[in-house]
Amino acid sequence: MGKIAMADERAGVRRLKLRVYPDEILRRLALPVSEKDLGETISKLAEDMKATMYAESGVGLAAPQVGISSRLIVIDPSERRDSPIVMVNPVIVDASGKDVAEEGCLSIPGVRAKVRRCVRLVVEFETLSGEKTGLEAEGFAARVIQHEIDHLDGKLFVDRLGPAGRLAVRKALRELEEAAG
Ligand code: ZN
Repeated sequence: MGKIAMADERAGVRRLKLRVYPDEILRRLALPVSEKDLGETISKLAEDMKATMYAESGVGLAAPQVGISSRLIVIDPSERRDSPIVMVNPVIVDASGKDVAEEGCLSIPGVRAKVRRCVRLVVEFETLSGEKTGLEAEGFAARVIQHEIDHLDGKLFVDRLGPAGRLAVRKALRELEEAAG
């Protein structure tokens, strides 16, 4: 924790305000990041998103969650929380297997539910310097990537629940809607 705070000060990183359900930006289809968008502004955004993710003890964060409707995510599914990955314009190009595990979301505080996801995937994306790259992920990491890419498509994990799951989270979602006014 102390280490993260020191790194934050050095880089002038700031913690961003999280958008919370039912904020409409969470429902928008985020726009691709174009080559001309790359540079200082988007790199700074990625740094701030990482700082926000760690500060909130999250394992991933998508730009729409901090009010920017762009196809950019940061993840860190590592146990030691020291291996962040920034993905620009991520696309899942292959996926296989299915399993169910509990998820939560920084934009839906207090709500957790079991979600069905693919177990293995291949994701292609660009780095902050515009290089095309990709990786294979499995299990928890694959789950985090699917959850964050869903955010870029305006989709939330509660949308993926079956009837019983939806019923179980209905009250909590209604409370968030009422809190938002
Ligand atoms: Zn989320």
